[in-house]
Amino acid sequence: MGIKGRKNYVLFYVFFILIMLVFGKYIKILNVNNSINITTTPVFNSMHRQDSDNRYTPLKKYYIIIDPGHGGMDKGTSYGNMYEKDLTLKIARYAASYLKSKGNVVFLTRNEDKLLGLDEIGDKVNSSYADVFVSIHVNSLSDNNFSGITTLYYDINGYQKNERVKLAESIEREAVKNDSWKNRGIKRQNLAVLRYSKIPGVLVECGFITNAEDRARLSDEGVLKRLGENISKGIIDYLNENHKN
Ligand SMILES: [Zn+2]
Repeated sequence: MGIKGRKNYVLFYVFFILIMLVFGKYIKILNVNNSINITTTPVFNSMHRQDSDNRYTPLKKYYIIIDPGHGGMDKGTSYGNMYEKDLTLKIARYAASYLKSKGNVVFLTRNEDKLLGLDEIGDKVNSSYADVFVSIHVNSLSDNNFSGITTLYYDINGYQKNERVKLAESIEREAVKNDSWKNRGIKRQNLAVLRYSKIPGVLVECGFITNAEDRARLSDEGVLKRLGENISKGIIDYLNENHKN
């Protein structure tokens, strides 16, 4: 390589370094923007919301996802022309409007007579970033003596067990407060809809359609409204208690 060749080589090398510096900085800027985008994505879980002083403090506004059981061609359990899918939607709507009136954000997995797959419900629950998940159902049994409300929870190897038990207890306690519902307590049961949920979730069995007294309650719009509201009070009690610290 002659002197001229070496000079060209050095010039090219300096030019190359300059290009790399500029290009590298540009990549760095892109990266910074990316990380900013990630951290400024709206975070819906109220556990992670910050107040104006940037302290992580719980707000009284919660995000709740409610699943009215069954729908569409899946009527659920029934008695005459009384279908579980219609009762669950009514109770869920009453719960949603009560929770919204208290300033909470509520998602319904369905707000129409539509069938959802269990995995579809699971996806909606887990992508909602809600604080809790509550599925509404109505019970039935061939023995028509069985009556009352029971709240089911499930944990995989203790995952969120305390939260799930506390949520179930809180809802069960409030759900039976009016209209002489029998308290059947809470029960651990392996149900797909509870298993899929990554957030604390429970399933409320709102009385037995096969029991005459429960059926009379379920036919009364006033009872359904109070039940939806009482379930909501149980949810709010749990959230206030759980987000205290
Ligand atoms: Zn059901």
